Order: sequence, then C-alpha cells, then structure tokens
Amino acid sequence: MARRRQLYEGTAKVLFEGPEPGTVVQHFKDDASSDNKQKRGVITGKGVINNRISEYLMTRMTDVGIPTHFVRRLNMREQLVREVEIIPLDIVVRNVVAGSLARRFGLPDGQRLERSIVEFYHKNDELGNPMVLEEHITAFGWATHQEIDEVIALSLRINDFLYGLFIGHGIRLIDFKVEFGRLWDGEQQRIVLADEVSPDNCRLWDAETGDKLGKDRFREGMDRVAEAYQEVARRLGILPEGGFGDISGPTLVQ
Ligand code: UDP
Repeated sequence: MARRRQLYEGTAKVLFEGPEPGTVVQHFKDDASSDNKQKRGVITGKGVINNRISEYLMTRMTDVGIPTHFVRRLNMREQLVREVEIIPLDIVVRNVVAGSLARRFGLPDGQRLERSIVEFYHKNDELGNPMVLEEHITAFGWATHQEIDEVIALSLRINDFLYGLFIGHGIRLIDFKVEFGRLWDGEQQRIVLADEVSPDNCRLWDAETGDKLGKDRFREGMDRVAEAYQEVARRLGILPEGGFGDISGPTLVQ
C-alpha cells in the first residue's frame, strides 16, 4: 500500500492527506488525554466507537442543515472529511455546571444553567488552552466579529439539536467542545463544523441516574471506561449486534 502523507498527529487522531485534493482522512486512535494532557491513557476500542458516533452525529446534523466537514466513513477507524482552515478556538457550550466551570466559580456539579453558555478557549496545548474573549480573538486576527457571530449561532443550534437527540436516548448533554473551520466553496467562504463530535468531547450523564458516560469516567479515574463509550453507541442505536468485532489493536497504516 502506498505510504500516505501524514498532516498532523494529536492525542486521539492522526490526519492524513485525502485521496482527492481538498480532502483529509481522520484516523481515530484509542489514546486519550484529559486535564490539558496531564493525564494520558488508552481506552481500548474508543477510536472505532468515536469514528461511528461522530459519523452518526455529523450526518444527523447535516440532515437539519448544520454545515459540517464530514464526507463519509471509510473503515472502522477512518473517515473522509473536507479540508478546512481550522479557526484556532475550542468552543465550549454548557447546559449544566461541571468541570472547569464548577472549579472556577465554586459551583456544585449538576446545577442547571438558566441559559446555555458559549465559551472560547485558544487552541494551544503549551499554554494550557487559555480562555479568551471576543476582544482577543479579533485583536489577534483569529476570526472576525462576523465569523464569531456565526460560530456562536451555529454552536447554539448544535447544542439544541444534540441536547434533544441525546435526551431522547436517556442521556443528558452537560457540555461539549466543538471546532469550526473555513471552507472554500468556489469564491465563497463558509464556516463549517469540523474535528469530531464524540464522547471524547461531550460530557454525557445518564438522564435518570446521573451516572457518568464517556470521557468523565477516564478523567475521574473511574472503572468501566471503554464500556461507557460502548453504552453511548448502544443507546444511540449504532452498536452492531455482537459489538464492533475486533476493535482491540491499533491498525495505523501510513
Ligand atoms: N473539552 C474538550 N477538550 C479540551 C477541553 C475540554 O473536548 O481540551 C470538553 C470536555 O470534554 C467537556 C467540555 O469541553 O465536555 C468542558 O470542559 P471543561 O472546560 O469543563 O474542562 P474539564 O472538565 O475537561 O477540565
């Protein structure tokens, strides 16, 4: 097999040049990190599950007119996406107090917010992803006021859609992180949802019991981490009968 050109390697994903110009292949790994990369580990099968869940959620969002970079899933661990110019921001949307919001303001975990909050963090691991204001974003030239307005509007639409989708499966969407990119469409530039939407970047609790599903279990050193990812896929109705087959070993072809 021809060697593929690697564009980027992060904790959870490797990006390769795609088969056609303007495309990228996202390869999902089992590696995980939290607390700004202080805590690291491997969650067996996570890459396969996140590839499926992100495919499912991006497709559902496309169905309701939310623009995304997703094209199609290629295999167990890979999906084809459109190449975009990533806006260097982590956008966090919150419905319920948890994580860094609870720590920063000394609030109890689980308190429902009167209205959803949209926060911006600068994507920079060395600096620990500092929180930034619209003032910083425009002054540093990362995005224009108009782009920020669009990012906020899209983030809130995504939140409304995902909240409803997850609650229909007995899951409460506490908060999540998304990234956006600029996509050239002929002469026109559009902002689209990029990266992934999976239990790696969503805080998901069981709606009845409050049990933590997904990344929270890893973050807090709890047991049954891999099972919690599978449980999210099962509830969304995308876990094939008998599981995903052999999801153990990494199969990174370069
Ligand atoms: N998040 C993420 N990547 C990051 C930081 C946060 O995906 O680098 C997600 C995280 O999974 C959670 C939300 O953003 O769903 C809010 O995270 P928070 O700021 O509360 O930080 P944490 O609790 O992870 O320390």
